[in-house]
Amino acid sequence: MYSCGLTVYNYAHIGNLRTYIFSDILRRTLEYEGYDVIHVMNVTDVGHLTSDADEGEDKLEKGAREVGKSVWEIARFYEEAFWKDLDLLNIEKPKIICRATEHIPDMIALIQRLIDRGHAYETDQAVYFDISTFPKYTEFTRQPLEQKVVGAREEVQEDPGKKYPADFALWFKAVGRFKNHIMRWDSPWGVGFPGWHIECSAMAMKYLGETLDIHTGGEDHIWVHHPNEIAQSEAATGKQFVRFWMHGSFLIVGDRNASGEEKRMGKSEGNFIRLQTLIDKGYDPLAYRYACLMAHYRQKLRFTWESMDAAAAGYASLKEFAARAKQIGGEEPPWVDEYRRRFRAAIEDDLNMPQAMAAVSEMIREAETRKEYGVLDALYDFDRVLGLRLRESAEAATEIDPGIQALIEEREQARKAKDWARADQIRNQLAEQGIILEDTPSGTLWRRTR
Ligand SMILES: [Zn+2]
Ligand SMILES: [Zn+2]
Repeated sequence: MYSCGLTVYNYAHIGNLRTYIFSDILRRTLEYEGYDVIHVMNVTDVGHLTSDADEGEDKLEKGAREVGKSVWEIARFYEEAFWKDLDLLNIEKPKIICRATEHIPDMIALIQRLIDRGHAYETDQAVYFDISTFPKYTEFTRQPLEQKVVGAREEVQEDPGKKYPADFALWFKAVGRFKNHIMRWDSPWGVGFPGWHIECSAMAMKYLGETLDIHTGGEDHIWVHHPNEIAQSEAATGKQFVRFWMHGSFLIVGDRNASGEEKRMGKSEGNFIRLQTLIDKGYDPLAYRYACLMAHYRQKLRFTWESMDAAAAGYASLKEFAARAKQIGGEEPPWVDEYRRRFRAAIEDDLNMPQAMAAVSEMIREAETRKEYGVLDALYDFDRVLGLRLRESAEAATEIDPGIQALIEEREQARKAKDWARADQIRNQLAEQGIILEDTPSGTLWRRTR
């Protein structure tokens, strides 16, 4: 399984992170089902252009100039920040992480293979993929080629040597507007740097073979990046590149504007929210993961502060329940089987997480109604996919220091001896330490208020 990774010229925003929560849920579901998943993710640390039309400024160089650091420093800095964000969201790190800058020879070899097979040509400025040699190009999107031409017009004017407007660059030469490009390597076509699309084809095939099972990305990759990856890879090998393509949908920010348009989150849209922004506002990062679980990955998810509050409350009560169930304990009742079945059916149905979450919350409701709390094993089992760290949180919440445990037991003795004054005194003393007691038929439970 290959996931298109981040371009490390800035922090990830929570819209980007939604895509990685989706691929993490996919990977966890496959592992839950017993598959051995080799998960590969690239890091785009070669600067690439600000738009898919191969025009504009190099994003990495622009980012570096803005903060006065080298492009290499910038790439490592944001890459580290990205792994930290993934960790805070409990996203499992891919088994293989590949940086574009460390795979330039693989890309050069693939470009050479495309030239040798007549699928690529060289001009004064670049090496291009020749779309006319790959008739299947429009199959993936069913979008007529003429529509793609519109976006590429600028480049036509820039390079008169280009045969067809929709041909895309595999290698840029460090000439003309790229004369001063900082990241550069030697190649058979002169000093320069690779195009963005070629890196994913070269690295995916290097680690997963010429045909891979699953390739994930954001839905913005459907129109340009992925058709280009397919063209390069299949033209070079003559084999199917990917069996299943899966794309995560965008995060929409706030309400529609006056003309009813949706606003996707983006670095250029002026609505940039980082995971750290949520943390600074007092949210648990996993509350954002919880929010993402409430929508299907192929549906747009609308982000508002109200929806974030609702997710935080939902996550908090889930954790509270887990802590209660851990204190009360008990055998698993037979009715839990039905929820285990429903949960599994939901995740197997194209990762229908909203339905999986509905099964979880209905199971909790039934446990509360019946006062049968032996559902923790099921909850922990579901959490292998949900990734909400329920076990850690329940263990931390029920971990109590011996002094407090002794006081709770002393109060039990006092109650048995009908020494109500002493029992109340201990209750108040514990309340001051942030421990709230609740006397139930199954004994005295406690929880923390802070
Ligand atoms: Zn990619
Ligand atoms: Zn991709």
